[in-house]
Amino acid sequence: MPMNRLPIGIREDQRFEMQKLVEKLRTFAKERDWEQFHSPKNLAMALSVEVSEIVELFQWLTEEESYNLSPEKLQRLKEEIGDVVIYLTKLSDKFGIDPVEAAINKIEINEKKYPAEMVRGKAKKYNEY
Ligand SMILES: [Mg+2]
Repeated sequence: MPMNRLPIGIREDQRFEMQKLVEKLRTFAKERDWEQFHSPKNLAMALSVEVSEIVELFQWLTEEESYNLSPEKLQRLKEEIGDVVIYLTKLSDKFGIDPVEAAINKIEINEKKYPAEMVRGKAKKYNEY
């Protein structure tokens, strides 16, 4: 992961946490000789499956029920979010992308695309304004 530039909004301790996670995931895979299975294609597919596991938790719930998960479902949500972060971090690591930096850069793009005073309270796509 490139460590050259600290983007606006990322504290040094947050970068350190991200780097610790990257190292932990590298070690986990290396100790099991699983890196051979972690092509970008496979990681992208695994990420998609884990996102679907989150979706499955909410499938068929009403809007209101989706706010009030049972303790068991909340625990499962926590684990699936962990899985998503793991695969997203591993995929990012393959390309030297810092996912937190990428997210901050993207929200800066979105801030320009969707000026608050223009879009407040509306859910239209940027090309519909
Ligand atoms: Mg899972």
